[in-house]
Amino acid sequence: MHFVQAKSILSANNGMNIYRGCLHGCIYCDARSDCYQMKHAFEDIEVKINAPQLLETALKSKRRLCMIGTGAMSDPYCAPECELKLMRRCLELIAEYGFGAAVLTKSDLIMRDIDLLEEINTSAKAVVQMTLTTADESLCQIVEPNVCSTARRAEVLMEMKKRKIPTVMWLTPILPFINDTESNIRELVQIGAEAGVWGIITFGIGMTLRSGDREYFYAALDKHFPGIKQRYIRTFGERYEIPSPNGEKLWAVFINECERYGIEFRQERIFQYMSEFPEPQQLTLF
Ligand code: SF4
Repeated sequence: MHFVQAKSILSANNGMNIYRGCLHGCIYCDARSDCYQMKHAFEDIEVKINAPQLLETALKSKRRLCMIGTGAMSDPYCAPECELKLMRRCLELIAEYGFGAAVLTKSDLIMRDIDLLEEINTSAKAVVQMTLTTADESLCQIVEPNVCSTARRAEVLMEMKKRKIPTVMWLTPILPFINDTESNIRELVQIGAEAGVWGIITFGIGMTLRSGDREYFYAALDKHFPGIKQRYIRTFGERYEIPSPNGEKLWAVFINECERYGIEFRQERIFQYMSEFPEPQQLTLF
C-alpha cells in the first residue's frame, strides 16, 4: 500500500472512498477497468491517509445532515483497514456530527465497527450493504478468493438484524455459465429473507466487462473454468454488457422470490431509501 494526502473526500453525492484498489481478488472486479485511470497496481492500495480530517471539515461545513455513503468504488473494509482504522475514525465522526451512513462491503471486518453503526442508527440512520453472489461456498472461494465466505456474510447480516440495523443485499454480478442458476438465485434471496434485508439490488441478470477487468476475468476463467472463456468470446465478443442467456427466466425467479418474502427489489426505491436522511423526531410533551 502507499499513502497520499487527498485534497477532498466527499463526492457531490456525499460518497466517500478512503482506499483505492483492493486485495479481495474478485475475478469480475469492475474497479480494475482502465477507464478509472488508476496510476498504480490494483493491489498496491492507495490510502487517503488524511481522510478523517477531510471528512470532519466537510461535515462541519454541511448546512444539512445527510447520509454519507461508502463502498461504491472500493471496499472500505479492505486489508489495510485492519491496522489503519480510518473507516472506524470516519464512522466516529459521522456519529459525532449526527450524520447517517450507508456502507457497502463484502468483509466481516465491518463487525468490528458494529457499535458505531448501532450508535449512528440510533441517532440517525445506518444501512449496511453486503454483496453475496453465490450460495456455493467452493464457487465463492474461486470468484471472491480473499474475503469471507457467503455463510459468514449471511451471519453479518443476521448480526445487524439483531441490532436493528437495516441491511441491503447486493446480488450482483451474475456471471453467465457460472452462477446464473435458478437454485443460486433462490438460495441467495432466501438468505436475504432470513436476515430480514430491506431490499436486494441486482442490475439485471448479468455482468459488465471492459478493458482492464476483462483481461483479469479471462485469466481467472482459464485457470478455474477451462473452456468458458472461449464461450464468452463466442457469445459476447467485446460487449460491455454481458447478460446471462438465462436472464429472462432468472429475472422472473428473482422477482417472484422477492415478492414472496416481501423484499424490495426496485433499484430506484432502494437507492432512494439508502440516501434518505430521516426527519428529526418531533418532541411531544403530552
Ligand atoms: S471487493 Fe469490490 S473492489 Fe474489491 S476486488 Fe471485489 S469487486 Fe473489486
